[in-house]
Amino acid sequence: MEEKSKIEQKALECPVCKSNKAMIAGENVKLGGKFEDKEFLTTELTVLKCTKCGYYMFFDKMAQFTTKDKS
Ligand SMILES: [Zn+2]
Repeated sequence: MEEKSKIEQKALECPVCKSNKAMIAGENVKLGGKFEDKEFLTTELTVLKCTKCGYYMFFDKMAQFTTKDKS
């Protein structure tokens, strides 16, 4: 009986140009914003930037990347 890995591995693909190459632009980034009259703050995110078109992608800190070694 096989058990699927619970660790989510994201195959990187830029939604704009479909490139799978991205560099880490920032780690542990929190984004703040406003929705209606309430301010919010996201959890820590990893920000990747597509090396081809410059599109920014945001991932939850818990996500694991195929480009990164497991710790
Ligand atoms: Zn791109």
